[in-house]
Amino acid sequence: MKPIYFPEPFRIKSVEPLKMLTREEREEKIAKADYNVFYLASKDVYIDLLTDSGTGAMSSDQWAGVMLGDESYAGADCYFKVQEVAKKIFGMPYIQLVHQGRAAEKVLLPILLNGKKYAISNMHFDTTRAHVELAGARAIDCVVPEALDTTAQYDFKGNMDCKRLEKYINELGAENIGVIIMTITNNSAGGQPVSVKNIRETRAIARKYGIKFMIDAARYAENSYFVKQREPEFKNSSIADIIKASFEDADCFTMSSKKDAIVNMGGLIGCRDKELFELVKQRTISFEGFITYGGMSGRDIEALARGLEEGVDENYLRYRIGQMQYLAARLDEGGIPYQSPVGGHAVFIDAKKLLPHIPYYEFPAQALAIELYREAGIRACDIGSYMLGNDPDTGKQLEAEFEFTRLAIPRRVYTQSHLDVIADALINIKERASSIKGYKIVEEPPILRHFTAKLKPIK
Ligand SMILES: *Cc1c(COP(=O)(O)O)cnc(C)c1O
Repeated sequence: MKPIYFPEPFRIKSVEPLKMLTREEREEKIAKADYNVFYLASKDVYIDLLTDSGTGAMSSDQWAGVMLGDESYAGADCYFKVQEVAKKIFGMPYIQLVHQGRAAEKVLLPILLNGKKYAISNMHFDTTRAHVELAGARAIDCVVPEALDTTAQYDFKGNMDCKRLEKYINELGAENIGVIIMTITNNSAGGQPVSVKNIRETRAIARKYGIKFMIDAARYAENSYFVKQREPEFKNSSIADIIKASFEDADCFTMSSKKDAIVNMGGLIGCRDKELFELVKQRTISFEGFITYGGMSGRDIEALARGLEEGVDENYLRYRIGQMQYLAARLDEGGIPYQSPVGGHAVFIDAKKLLPHIPYYEFPAQALAIELYREAGIRACDIGSYMLGNDPDTGKQLEAEFEFTRLAIPRRVYTQSHLDVIADALINIKERASSIKGYKIVEEPPILRHFTAKLKPIK
């Protein structure tokens, strides 16, 4: 029986032309880009899967809001509107605008960490880890072991390993831990969902030891949709109720609005406690701007207020997660290995399995990303040893746990035909997999090298 997928709950009113270059042109462009996809011009890309962050398509209602955005320095109309919507959705009494997710982290994390030594999370996103470290603390990941096996079929591969969490707290001392962070969905594990049961258990542990509990809420809506599908307690609940249950009793949250709120730029901080909020406001004024705009334009705030509501619409979420599941089903047919079951915002292809002849130090996931561009003008990126980089002490290449080529799917941007192009390209690549060569780095900066390094194919 053929599974039924869920079609787009919208029609297209405005289009952006795309051109697929010829294979020869693509060969030339990727060589000119020194085999680093970040150096490609977007006009030379046919399907851009570099990220789902800030790349979504706004609705006609959001675009109408852009014209109504109030650009007043203080007390703009859109400020009151976004406050009202965010308080309703997240059930938090205090909401602060900032310009993106990492700005929220920059404002909030030093307040929570304030001299403490550790933050523990199911998995820190890379900017979250950076801000924990900038605040002088260490970031510890504590995801369930199922997340590390790409073939393990488990409903909530993003969950916190609560037993290990409690062990860490006892070993490190509760007084040394500034915050416990729950990232929903768990981006770094492949957009994998976290159950409400697991959120509750983690929160109870935080309470027991008097540690602050924070949610990294970038994909609050996609996570809630998975909960509705997979957690029996919530099968008849609305998405709104599941979000309430997830955020209930959390001390605070940070959010990148560039994901589930479907805007190109924006972020939020939520707090339950007035004292914490006062500190957040002070730091926001120094780093982001006055509290009623927090580093955002009025027009973007208006679009955000509308996007927050569109992002929790169940028909939209069914289509959104359905796209991921459609692509995954086509990969199953073609025998392409990926982090399974598929997560909420991306398909993570297991390049270690697809290109087993390329060792980690010749970057199989980067080789696959380049092959996807050669094959069909698709831009994906390496989440593996190439991204991980060198050991800072020895200068030796580190070996990553996974060699993933990430296909992040922008929201409401590509059609099912585009998804077919992606699947067909991967199936073609699989047929000639054994002839694909690895890469070596010829130039690299000391940190975050994947953005700017230059590479060469190995002969
Ligand atoms: C994107 C993201 C961030 C950072 O947000 P930016 O808007 O890119 O600064 C933080 N946490 C998670 C889980 C994210 O996905």
